[in-house]
Amino acid sequence: MKKRFSFELAARIKHLPPYLFASIDKMKQDAIRKGTDLIDLSIGDPDIPTPAKIVKAMKKAVENPAHHRYPSYEGMISFREAVARWYKTRFRVALDPKSEVLSLIGSKEGIGHIPLAFVNPGDTVLVPSPGYPVYPIGTLFAGGQSHMMPLKEENGFLPELDRIPQKVLRQSKLMFLNYPNNPTSAVAPRAFFEEAVGTAFRHNIVVCHDASYTEIYYDRKPLSFMQIPGAKDIGIEFHSLSKTYNMTGWRIGFAVGNREVLAGLGKVKTNLDSGVFQAVQEAAVTALDMDTAELSGIRDTYRERRDILYSGLKKLGMNLIKPQATFYLWVKVPAPFDSMGFVTHMLNKAGVLATPGNGFGASGEGYVRFALTASAGKINEAVGRLRRIL
Ligand SMILES: *Cc1c(COP(=O)(O)O)cnc(C)c1O
Repeated sequence: MKKRFSFELAARIKHLPPYLFASIDKMKQDAIRKGTDLIDLSIGDPDIPTPAKIVKAMKKAVENPAHHRYPSYEGMISFREAVARWYKTRFRVALDPKSEVLSLIGSKEGIGHIPLAFVNPGDTVLVPSPGYPVYPIGTLFAGGQSHMMPLKEENGFLPELDRIPQKVLRQSKLMFLNYPNNPTSAVAPRAFFEEAVGTAFRHNIVVCHDASYTEIYYDRKPLSFMQIPGAKDIGIEFHSLSKTYNMTGWRIGFAVGNREVLAGLGKVKTNLDSGVFQAVQEAAVTALDMDTAELSGIRDTYRERRDILYSGLKKLGMNLIKPQATFYLWVKVPAPFDSMGFVTHMLNKAGVLATPGNGFGASGEGYVRFALTASAGKINEAVGRLRRIL
């Protein structure tokens, strides 16, 4: 008998549902193959190019052989200083670039890895639902279990921290938060962040605040969690150049805040990756040093799109809140549909693709998310097509 070679997926990935955006991508490819003229409002990836100034800095940096070698693990000091300057200018938050800033290969990398630093098998992590799928998956990979914190419309899509059972709080090592929020577009008031600092402090829970969308706002500038007194004692904040500067493909982000927490994450990273290409870090310095007024054009573009989609959907009788930040609209699914049913209906009948809310966790069921990552003309056309099917 000849031996047959065989192998199996590890349990930790074997039973994972396919990554939400991968299965949406498949639906999308199928529709395109069938000849659908698709308007894709499903993915949170800006369609606007990276500002020319940043691209130019990259071109220059890539010519420098000093950048062709392994980068430093924690990021070039010039990059970490630029992050500290940016926090000072934007949020009036002082950071020590040497110990309170860490470079990341996109914030997703840091978010996915942090449970490995602080979660033992069996430990609990507090995770918002709906939320970015990497929070529960990173937890699972570390052997931890997620305790879902439902984000409900009647609470402004903020978790009710005082309703988390004491036993759960005692077992919790980390709490993920994300404001401005993907997918609900909610912005957290200062009082909520203060409550989170208090809860975390009482129960020794490290807060990991994901601040990817603080620069995509329409009227009032959102807060950084680091602006809250005590925040640096109990947590860190993840940030990214992806959404702010249309740099999703470049893979650079950073974490700031509590130095011991950052050192824990850094210890995982030094054992797994070798940092961010230095030419990308150089370009990121140029980005972070840009006058914030230079970003107002990007915000104006999203504002115009938001207004078209918001008023269009309102006129169709849809139930939604006007976003004050992020480039997402979180929309209640009309009867008799569920999230996936409504997404499929829109795709098949109107060629408009949105994301089913349940893909962000069970509490997202009953909603769909539209991303403002197509031109105003396309969004207008999407509204017109939806008018015909609703
Ligand atoms: C886009 C996004 C990120 C990831 O950004 P990268 O820096 O590109 O990895 C993190 N969190 C949320 C909520 C996001 O929407």
